[in-house]
Amino acid sequence: MTAAVIDGTAVARQVREEVGKGVAQLVAAGGTAPGLATVLIGDDPASEVYVRNKRRLCVAAGMADLHRHLPGDVDQASAAALIDSLAADPAVSGILLQLPTPAHLDAEALLARIPAAKDVDGLTTANAGLLAQGRPGLRPCTPSGVMVLLDQYDVPLQGAEAVVVGRSVLVGRPMAQLLLERNATVTICHSRTRDLAEVCRRADVLVVAAGIPGLVGADAVKPGATVIDVGIHRGEDGLHGDVDTAAVAAVAGRITPVPGGVGPMTIAMLLANTLTAATAQQGSGG
Ligand code: NAP
Repeated sequence: MTAAVIDGTAVARQVREEVGKGVAQLVAAGGTAPGLATVLIGDDPASEVYVRNKRRLCVAAGMADLHRHLPGDVDQASAAALIDSLAADPAVSGILLQLPTPAHLDAEALLARIPAAKDVDGLTTANAGLLAQGRPGLRPCTPSGVMVLLDQYDVPLQGAEAVVVGRSVLVGRPMAQLLLERNATVTICHSRTRDLAEVCRRADVLVVAAGIPGLVGADAVKPGATVIDVGIHRGEDGLHGDVDTAAVAAVAGRITPVPGGVGPMTIAMLLANTLTAATAQQGSGG
């Protein structure tokens, strides 16, 4: 078998176009264009690239770019004061604190100041709690992007065996909860899992977010399974994921490439969350 490739670049473009139309409708109905406040602290080059892309696509979707940049030596109180002012500003629909923050800052304390309604990264305790209880809220962007990919490719979830490798707050945990919400039978693997390949082979849907290049090989994949590779690793020969793509593609039914799979979905879902947040804040039925 040669797996069908799940084209995240194309699906992300569709999502961004839908968001752009939603923004235009909101404005045409007398609302205000959503505003996204990305907050970058310090000058980490990778973070600068991520934030620049988020801002560019935010503007392309018709939203206001309300970016803020703080120096790397800013103190906790000043960073907190900035978050508080964005929280109180009605022009700001969504706040995204780019992680990691410099080591001397308490990032969790800063995240905790973001109101749940403006938490477009879905990372606050309030939104994580809503997700854990199966109640509506803003969802973390990467796992919600995976759900859109699964739906776009008509991957059956109800009653399916889903295995998630990784249990981070950013990806693994919310991923498992979103799959559970859709009535998959979910198993979560982590660094202490005994015989990872044996557990993964149960999966109809296998989502790998471990941060270890090539962790999942063909021996860990059931023939015909859908394999979603969240991992991103920058090597001398380009980007790679957590899955040995060439080997797994010979066994799986569908697979996400790296790059061009899950990666482009993350920013698309950030924009979708920002529109959702703005619509709800403006009382327009969102
Ligand atoms: P993380 O916080 O480091 O979490 C990694 C998880 O994998 C942990 O739960 C860890 O288990 C588990 N793990 C580590 N080694 C394992 C092993 N040998 N077998 C099974 N599980 C193992 O990473 P993350 O933030 O979730 O990110 C995961 C990957 O996704 C990274 O490559 C990251 O760059 C990428 N990522 C991509 C996007 C995107 O937009 N595509 C977004 C976010 C992250 P323990 O809990 O036991 O330590």
